Formats: sequence, structure tokens, C-alpha cells
Amino acid sequence: MLSGRLAVVTGAGSGIGRAVCRVFASEGATVIGADMNEKGMEETLAMIKDTGDHQSFQCDVSSSASVNNLLDKIKEKYSSAPQVAVNSAGITRDRTMMKLTEEDFDKVVNVNLKGTWLLNKAVGKAMLTNKVQGSIVNISSLVGKTGNIGQTNYAASKAGVIGITKSMAKEMGKFNIRVNAVLPGFIETPMTETVPENLMQMTKLLIPLGRLGNPEEIANTCAFLASDKSSYITGATIEVTGGLFM
Ligand code: NAP
Repeated sequence: MLSGRLAVVTGAGSGIGRAVCRVFASEGATVIGADMNEKGMEETLAMIKDTGDHQSFQCDVSSSASVNNLLDKIKEKYSSAPQVAVNSAGITRDRTMMKLTEEDFDKVVNVNLKGTWLLNKAVGKAMLTNKVQGSIVNISSLVGKTGNIGQTNYAASKAGVIGITKSMAKEMGKFNIRVNAVLPGFIETPMTETVPENLMQMTKLLIPLGRLGNPEEIANTCAFLASDKSSYITGATIEVTGGLFM
């Protein structure tokens, strides 16, 4: 499905980003993993190394210098811009509004929202310069639509990701660059491991499919959006939630 495509994936060292790397590699893509977490990224690369000329680079998505450096290194190594980008880097700092600090608001917005903006801008520019027809997939969250107790910072950042996606899709459509967002519900990754067990049990009762999702189920949706099978889809938000609507 992705044979011959060069794909950059942020948050590649864990959870959904790692699953995206694995699924993309198995679908024939050459994968460039980017993450702050070098150890996690190396583990991901070891999982896919036999399937192609994959590479990983350390990158802090909240820093424009780091993101631009990533694109420079990709150009240097592959002499091309990526045809696909998946923005999966993300963090949570959960606290109810009255307890949430300004610092934790800024941290989450800087990584989840500004980081997505920086990567969309840098990848979009590289795609335009190299006349690449591409697909950008931003990982938002169902919480960006519904809000959630203890996540004013996170929900705002993920709602913003939807705004970036829809605006970018309008700007880039005429260049045949598609931009879409995936909105996961509750997915089994290190990010959700910290959710208290009783809350998780209650959540499961609200999910029509009766279970949490696994990272591969998000990765498969990303593969579809990255491929020509979704050639007429742009500016879309696709919920992958087991039917959950909080
Ligand atoms: P995860 O397992 O924690 O993976 C996130 C990865 O991003 C980690 O490797 C993390 O490194 C990295 N990262 C953090 N800050 C970064 C930065 N500034 N620059 C580059 N990389 C950075 O989380 P996940 O569950 O896979 O989540 C992936 C995406 O899906 C996130 O955007 C998340 O908001 C979204 N999402 C997840 C769920 C869910 O239920 N899991 C639901 C909805 C949406 P460290 O380990 O060093 O922090």
C-alpha cells in the first residue's frame, strides 16, 4: 500500500508512533522515525530494520530549530522530501482546571499544538519545494471534540490540531497535498497506563466495542490516509474510538 513512499513519523519511540512505523514498514514504506526519546526510537528501528533503509533522528517537535534540522537531515540522507508525515508526538499533564499550572498548560500546548504546526509547516514547505504530492496525518484526539475532566490543556491542544489540519488542507489542496486528522479514543499505550484502573473500567463500559483500542488499529487508519486509497480525502477528521463518544 505504501511501496516506494518516504514517511516521517514523530513520536516514533512509543505507542501509536511506533505502531505507525511498524505498519508503514510492513506496507513497503521507508520510515524515518523522529522522537525525543532516543532509546525508544532505537527499539522501534530495531523492530523494522530488516524491511528497508529506515532511519531515526532525535527531534524535539516543539523546537523549530530541531524540526528544521530533521528535514535537512532527511534531505541529506534521501535526497528527497518525505511524501508522508504522521505527527504522533504528544504528551499529557492532566489536572483539573483549578489545579493545573500555567507551566503545564504551556508544556502541553508547545508539544501537541505548536509541535504539530511546526512539523506541518516544515514538511509542507519541503513537499512544495520538491514538488511532492503528499499526505500529512495529524494525531488529534476524541477529547479535542468532546473535552474531558482534567484535560483543559490537552483538549485545547487537540482541538487546535483539528484547526491546523482543516486550514492546512484548504491551503495545500491545490498542490495535491492532503492533510487529515485521526482522533483516537482510548488506546493501550504508555500514555494511558497512568489512568487509574477504576476510571478505565468505567470508560470501557461506555465504549460500544467494550475494549480499549490497540495502537495498530490507529496505525492502520494512518496507513489508509497515507496511501492512494484515500486519494479524495482531505481536511477530514476520522474517529477511531470503538464507538466511544464522551
Ligand atoms: P506515548 O506512548 O507516550 O508516545 C508519545 C511519544 O512522543 C513518546 O515517545 C514521547 O517521548 C514522544 N514525545 C514527547 N514529547 C516529544 C517532543 N517534544 N518531541 C518529539 N517527541 C516527543 O503516547 P501515545 O499514546 O502513543 O500517543 C501518541 C499520540 O496519540 C499523541 O499525540 C497522543 O496525544 C495521541 N492520542 C493518544 C491516545 C491514547 O489513548 N493513547 C488517545 C488520543 C490521542 P517520551 O516517552 O520521552 O515522552
